[in-house]
Amino acid sequence: MSISLVDLTLSEGAYPVQGSGYIMALDSGTTSVRALIVDEYDDIVASAAKPISVSYPQPGWVEQDPMEILASQIAVMAEVQFKSGIHSDRIAALGISNQRETCVVWDRDSGQPIYNAIGWQCRRTASIVDELIAAGYEDVIRDKTGLTPDPYFSATKIKWVLDNVSGAREAAEAGELMFGTIDTWLIYNLTGGAVYATDYTNASRTMLFNIHTLDWDDELLDMLGIPRSMLPEVRWSSGDFGHVSSEVMTHMPPITGVAGDQQASLFGHCCFERGDTKNTYGTGCFMLMNTGDEIVRSENGLISTIGIAEGGTISYALEGSIFHAGSVIQWLRDKLGIIADAAETAEISQSVEDNAGCYLVPAFSGLGAPWWDPTARGLIAGLTAASDRATLVRAACESMAYQSHDVLRAMEADSHMTLGGLSVDGAASRNEFIMQFQADLLGIPVVQTDSVETTALGAAYLAGLAVGYWEDREELLQNHAHGRRFEPRGDPEDTARYLAGWRDAVSRTRTVIE
Ligand code: ADP
Repeated sequence: MSISLVDLTLSEGAYPVQGSGYIMALDSGTTSVRALIVDEYDDIVASAAKPISVSYPQPGWVEQDPMEILASQIAVMAEVQFKSGIHSDRIAALGISNQRETCVVWDRDSGQPIYNAIGWQCRRTASIVDELIAAGYEDVIRDKTGLTPDPYFSATKIKWVLDNVSGAREAAEAGELMFGTIDTWLIYNLTGGAVYATDYTNASRTMLFNIHTLDWDDELLDMLGIPRSMLPEVRWSSGDFGHVSSEVMTHMPPITGVAGDQQASLFGHCCFERGDTKNTYGTGCFMLMNTGDEIVRSENGLISTIGIAEGGTISYALEGSIFHAGSVIQWLRDKLGIIADAAETAEISQSVEDNAGCYLVPAFSGLGAPWWDPTARGLIAGLTAASDRATLVRAACESMAYQSHDVLRAMEADSHMTLGGLSVDGAASRNEFIMQFQADLLGIPVVQTDSVETTALGAAYLAGLAVGYWEDREELLQNHAHGRRFEPRGDPEDTARYLAGWRDAVSRTRTVIE
C-alpha cells in the first residue's frame, strides 16, 4: 500500500535553522498521535498533535482503526514541518515511540489490515489467558518473557484474530499475513513496505519474545498456534529502520530510533544506569527501574522487560503500573464536582496541616502491584465530622504518592537495590504538593524533568545517536536539563504514621470484599 498524502516542498520560514539540523520524533499514543521537532539542545522547536478514536464494540473490548492511526501520524508529520517552516531535508533522523502491545494484523499483498487494531487495554482474550494458565504455561511464560500472563500483551490478541477472522488461520499458515505492534505498522507503511521490523523493547511486550535469547520463542509460538512467518524482524532500538518512501513524504530522513513509549521515556529520562528509576504520573502511573544486565524475577507482581536496547547492550527493567493515579483527580472533578481544575489540587492540599487520618484508596478496578487483588474496590477511610473538601482532595493527592511508594519499595525488594532518587514526569508530576509528599515518603530526592515530552525525547535520542547527531550517552546526560528537585524533609515519625494509616486503609479495601 502506498499513501500519497503529502508532498512537502516548503521553504524555510520563520524559524532559524541551527547547526546540525533537527530530529523528528513521533509519539504514537493511544488517544492522540504527535510529531515533534527537537534541536541538539533537547529543545522542542515545534509540535503537532491529532486525536485518534478508540472504539469499545463490547464491554471490555477496545479497538482502533490502523488506517486512521497511520493517516493521522503522517498528517502531523506534515503539519509540524509546515508550522515550524523546517523543511524535511534539515531533519537528520526520525524516531518513533508508540503505544505498546496493541496488535495489528494485515495482508502481505494488499497491505490492508484484516481486522481493527486490538488495543492494549482490551480484555477480550481473558479466557485464552485462563486456558494457558490452566494448561500450566504460567511459569514458562514468566521465565521466557519476564511477563505475567495477561490479555494486556499482544500474543493472545494475535491468536484471537487468527481464530475469529474468517480465513485468517489458513492465510497465516500460508505466510500471507503480517503482525505488528504500532511501531511495525508505521515503519512498514512509512517505508512503502520495504522494512518489516520492530525493536527489542516492543518485541518484549508481545509475550512471544524470549528476553534471554533475544528471539521469538518457538515453544510460545506453538502454544498459541502463531506461525513465525507473521512476525517482524527484531532490531536494536537505535539503528537502521529504513527510509521514509518518497511516495509517502519527500526528502525525509531515515528512521533510526524505535522504542515502546515507556521505554522511550526511560531513555528520555537518561535512566542509563542500573538502579535509575522513572515514574510517569498521568492517568495511571508507569514506573520503570533499570536493572542492568539482570533479569529480575519479581516476587511482588512486577514484570521484567527489555528497558533499553542501544549501543550493543541490553538493559533490562522492572516495570510496575498503577491503574488509577491522575484519574482520581478527574474523579473529584467529574463525579464529585468538588474541584474545577486539576491544577487547584496542590494549593488545596497544602491548605491543611496534615491528612487528619483520612485516606482514599482508589481501587476503582481492583488493586495492582504489589497487592494484586482484582476484586478490591475503592474506599475512603477515617472520615470525621470535620472532614471537608480539602480533606478529600488531599487524600486523593496523597494516594498517588502512596501507591508509587508501594511499587518502588517492591522494586527495591525484588532487585536488592536501594534507590538514590526518582526521576518524574507526566502532568500530575507538576503538582508540587504530591512531589514533596513523595520525596518525604520515600526519603529520597524526586526530580522533575525539564521537558514534559520525555517519551518523544527518548525516541529522538535513540534516532539521533544512530546518525551521530549526538555522539554518545555522555553528551545526552550533559544536555539533559532537570526541572525542580524535591528533597525529602519529612519527619520520620510522621512518615511512618502516614504509611501505617495507608496500609490499614488498603487492607480494609480487601476485607470488605472477601
Ligand atoms: P496521560 O498521558 O495518561 O493521558 P497526562 O500525563 O496528560 O496523562 O496526565 C493527565 C492526568 O493527570 C489526568 O488524570 C489529570 O487529572 C492529572 N493531573 C493533571 N494535572 C494535575 C495536577 N496539577 N495535579 C494532580 N493531577 C493532575
